[in-house]
Amino acid sequence: MNCPNCRNKMKKKTDNTPEGVSFTYFKCDKCGEEILDLKQLHAVAEKYREMKKYTAKISKWGESLAVRIPKPLTKKYSLKANTEVTLVPEKNAIKILS
Ligand SMILES: [Zn+2]
Repeated sequence: MNCPNCRNKMKKKTDNTPEGVSFTYFKCDKCGEEILDLKQLHAVAEKYREMKKYTAKISKWGESLAVRIPKPLTKKYSLKANTEVTLVPEKNAIKILS
């Protein structure tokens, strides 16, 4: 792949997003132009979607129901056992505010 600005041959490089998803891109050492190809971009977006999807089982807890929150989410949102959260009923979802 050649640089669209200066026609210099671009180098293939690999990097990681802050979330740890790796992606490759092309960089021109001459003018600093960086290109992330579309296919790669879609692959990265797909990985993000997978990372953001979690399933949880609802279990009975007395007269109420309990949802087990996966560990990565408890870490991400600093959720701790025996602390209170706010549940906000929305049209098609229940939002949890920590
Ligand atoms: Zn260039």
